[in-house]
Amino acid sequence: MCVFCSRSRSPLLHLLCTCALLLLLLMWSHSVSILSLLPRLLNVVFGIIIDSFGELRMRNLAIKHDMENNCFICGVDRFTLDTKGGGFPLHIRKHHNMWLYLYMIVYLREKDPTEYNGWEQHVANMLAQEDVGFFPRNDAIALKEVKNREEAESRRYMGQVASTAERVADIAASVEKLLEVMTGVASRVNATAAGQAG
Ligand SMILES: [Zn+2]
Repeated sequence: MCVFCSRSRSPLLHLLCTCALLLLLLMWSHSVSILSLLPRLLNVVFGIIIDSFGELRMRNLAIKHDMENNCFICGVDRFTLDTKGGGFPLHIRKHHNMWLYLYMIVYLREKDPTEYNGWEQHVANMLAQEDVGFFPRNDAIALKEVKNREEAESRRYMGQVASTAERVADIAASVEKLLEVMTGVASRVNATAAGQAG
């Protein structure tokens, strides 16, 4: 950021400040011909212009990338909507169509407030307070359905794991009892064999 226009990020103002500084330096020095410094001055000006256009282009690319890969209404990214929300194109065309939201706002402004129903009154009140809290943020019904389905599957798997663990515990208890019986039988066999030998 320019030290002479630190309160502004305007490329044009930055350019004017730089030119003014260079002219002041030239007037102050008096020892150098303005014509001899003109090529350097032009190089500085052209460099600033190129940098400004490069910055503007990068900013426009970032905006374009955001528009093409994030829902304008809820802000959810394309990858999440493609994998869990039924697809990004379907989402921005049907689920969160920004033009339908604009239509709703215009519709509410045109409609007689005495004829509002419940949700229309709610949204109109929020619009009057410049509150956009009625817009979904990082949320969508399609994502909730997938999330609920994943949670149901997770609960089902956890139930199966718990059932399997109970069965394994039962088998382990049975094996332990069987070992005790076998140990008792082996002791009696050994005692009987010792008695016969005696
Ligand atoms: Zn959305």
